Amino acid sequence: MFDKEFIEKQKNKLEKQKEELERLLSDFASKDADSKHNWRTNYPDIAPDERDPEDSVDEVEEYVDLLPQEYTLEVKLKNVNEALDKIKKSTYGFCENCERPISKERLEVNPSAKKCKECMGL
Ligand SMILES: [Zn+2]
Repeated sequence: MFDKEFIEKQKNKLEKQKEELERLLSDFASKDADSKHNWRTNYPDIAPDERDPEDSVDEVEEYVDLLPQEYTLEVKLKNVNEALDKIKKSTYGFCENCERPISKERLEVNPSAKKCKECMGL
């Protein structure tokens, strides 16, 4: 199976990715205290008397624009955390669909890959 050295290398990559994703998420979101994997986008904090209707429209648009980006980062972070979990449980590197080992080449490119090339239709 995978050698220790390879797993160690993947673990380092995943931990770096995790740091980076958490940093990116903290730039525009604060961690939701209620749930481990849910980040909440900070709604612009403007006192009601400073608003005029025009401004409010811009704010909402900005908020909506951020959501897909936040969601993507959140999903990536979740995948990275899951991969790190699998390393702990020694189940890392196996396809979630066919349970065969995922190729090293694929894992090197995408350390949090969940499925093998064949199952991804690549
Ligand atoms: Zn597969």
